[in-house]
Parts: sequence; C-alpha cells; structure tokens
Amino acid sequence: MSDSSTKLYEGVCDRFEQTASYVNLDAKVHAILSQPKAELMIHFPVKMDDGSYQLFKGYRIQHNNLLGPYKGGMRFSPEVSLDEVKGLAMLMTLKCALAKLPLGGAKGGIKYNPDDHSPEENQRITRRFTLALGHNIGPSYDIPAPDMGTNAQYMDWIMDTYHNLYGRKVEDKAVVTGKSVACGGSVGRASATGFGAVYCLEEWARESGQPLVGAKFAIQGFGNVGSHAALKLEELGATLVAVNDHTATLIHPEGISAKALAEYVQQHRGIKGFQPDHEVDDIRQFWSQDVEFLVLAAMENVVTKNNADLIRAKLIVEGANGPVTTKAEAILLDKGIQIIPDILANMGGVIVSYFEWVQNRNSEYWSAVTVDTKLREKLIAAYHSVVEIAGKQNVSMRQAAYVEALQHLEEVYLKRGVWP
Ligand code: GLU
Repeated sequence: MSDSSTKLYEGVCDRFEQTASYVNLDAKVHAILSQPKAELMIHFPVKMDDGSYQLFKGYRIQHNNLLGPYKGGMRFSPEVSLDEVKGLAMLMTLKCALAKLPLGGAKGGIKYNPDDHSPEENQRITRRFTLALGHNIGPSYDIPAPDMGTNAQYMDWIMDTYHNLYGRKVEDKAVVTGKSVACGGSVGRASATGFGAVYCLEEWARESGQPLVGAKFAIQGFGNVGSHAALKLEELGATLVAVNDHTATLIHPEGISAKALAEYVQQHRGIKGFQPDHEVDDIRQFWSQDVEFLVLAAMENVVTKNNADLIRAKLIVEGANGPVTTKAEAILLDKGIQIIPDILANMGGVIVSYFEWVQNRNSEYWSAVTVDTKLREKLIAAYHSVVEIAGKQNVSMRQAAYVEALQHLEEVYLKRGVWP
C-alpha cells in the first residue's frame, strides 16, 4: 500500500470525523457512514499478447446507496489500493449528497498501469474485470465512470461487455457513464469536471471582485481535468503561466497557450518538449508562482506541509480528489489562501454523469447547450449553499461542504429510519 493512499484515506476520515462532531451527527448515521457498505476485491487472469497469463487485482468499494445507486469512477493505476478507493468512495457519497443528486458513492479500479499494455491487452483486462464484477454493477445498482487512467473507450468496453452478458433493456446502456457520444455518452461529459471547476472559480472571482481578464493562473496536471479547466480559463481572458505534470514543469510569465498545449498533450501524453526553453527542473519554482489562481488537477496529496508555505495564489481550486493534505490546508488557510474543495470543485464530472444516466434511461440526447446550462445551474447552486454556510458559521469552504453533505444524508436517514 502506498503512503499516499493511506494519507488520502486518513485525510478523508479525519475531515469526516471532524465535521461529524461539529454538526453533532446522529450516532447511527455516523456509524453507518464511517465504513463502506461493501468492499469487493477480485483477482482475475488475463491472456497477454505473447500468450502468457497475468493475474490482476481489481476493487469496487460501495460506500453508500441511501440517496440512489452507488456511483463513482474506475481508476486504473499502479497506485490503486484498498485504502485509496475507500477514501475516494466516501468522497463520492459526500459529493453526490452535496450536488443533491439521487446517487450514492462508490469507487473502484485495477492496480496496473495501462500505459504498459497494448490496446488489445487493455481491452481484455477491462472486459475480464467487468465479467468478474458480474451483478455487482448495474444501471440501477452501481454505475462506474472514468477516473485516472481510464476514459470513454474503457467505459464503452465495460458497457458492451455488460450488455452482452446481461443487457435486455434499452436502459442497460446506463450501466456506466462517461461513454463515447457514439455509444450513448453525453455531450459535455469529457469537459464537465474541468469546466465545472472554472464555474466555481468564476463565482468566487465575481464575489471577490477579482477580474478574470488578465489574471494569471497555474495548473498542476494537464490531463482531461486540467486541460479543460485551462481552456475555459483562457476563454475567459486569464493567462496560463505555469504548468506541471508527470513529465515536466513549464513556466512562462508571458503566457502559455492552453489550446496549443492541449493539442500537444493529445499527441505526446505529457507537456515535456512543448517549449523546452521554458522547462525548469526545480518544482519549487512552480509552487511559488505569483498567480491569482492555482488549479490542482493531478492527484491526491500533492500539496503537503513541505510545499504549502511556498504557495502565493489567492485561490486554490481542487479539480483532483484530495490534493491538499490536512496539515497543508491549515497552513494555507492561515495564510489567507482560500480553497474550493474537491467535492465541490470537481463535482461537474458526476453531475454530467447523472445527466448521461438520465438520457440513457429515457433514450434521449440532450444538446451541448442544455447540458452546459443544467451543469452551471447545479454547480452554482451547490457553490452558493457552501459559501452561505461558510459565511454564517465562519468555517472553511471544505468544512461547509462536508456540513451540507452530511446534514442532507442525516435528514434522509432519520426520515427513512434504519430497518429492521
Ligand atoms: N471519477 C469522477 C469523480 O471522482 C467522476 C465520477 C462519476 O462520474 O461517476 O468525481
């Protein structure tokens, strides 16, 4: 188990415990939410291109389904561990509750690196995993989606495998969201997480009197979430001055074209080589950039007590899940840096997943304008409910988001009761 995943799980649990005692959460609701409802761990063999067989380890953690079917991504990465998916599954329960979606929380994945395998092997691994999951997923029961290391192609394979095994009804396509549009995905799903993060940022900027035109921003992670956030911010007139990803760190005070960089990354799978003259070796230069906004869109635990002091941004937006450790958060808040927390900032992805699910169940296709309008509406409502709680109770936006989510879950548990 990697240290980072343990930290993520502990961080999520700490924040949950802290809020539970702050809101005096009902004891039985507290006990139920402190553990996932189910933890599935499976080993399955897959034939490699050379004829040999390799055994893979897959997970699906179903944290809670009080509000609706379990919902959450499938992460394919060598870092995947039980603790990591447990922490991420709890975040999904809170995220869906905060977004007021009729969905619960789950997360899963396979511990392996898709980049080490051919497309044919990745396809067989995904299909064999879906077979091994069997009826543990389903359009009214548990609905996976893309996450780190997966994309629409992987979701199409999951849907096709499930459909061939069990699909009898049109709405069975809704077993998974984040599919390609051709296979029943929603327009606007791929950009939803990144755009959603910027819609929150826009609200913050408006309320803080911070103009976007001419503002400088830095982005950590330039995959699906980071690139879409950068493209949207660029469209709004802000300037990208620093980017870091798993391949390099790029700093250019005059501005980096997000559009050109996004095209480059599509081809080269990383930012390295885009502007070699502006690459720097010392990542501390990235963290200490004098920018208005810092968007964290890579992975968990990247801002720690070791680099939090360097950060000079006015606002941090958590496009990734759990990018700031609890210790780092205390340092940042002390410095007056505000943080739009993950369960709010990156909820755009699961919101449009919900739209996809609704469209599939009704055999509908919504336009890009409809999806974007509804996404904005839901996000802005969630953003303002968080800001209102934060203001009234004098707590951080993260604490306010947890308060709102936990109180919603508590209300439903108390109304429904725990049976038998
Ligand atoms: N993996 C994304 C997240 O962490 C999306 C989940 C979904 O769409 O179900 O929010």
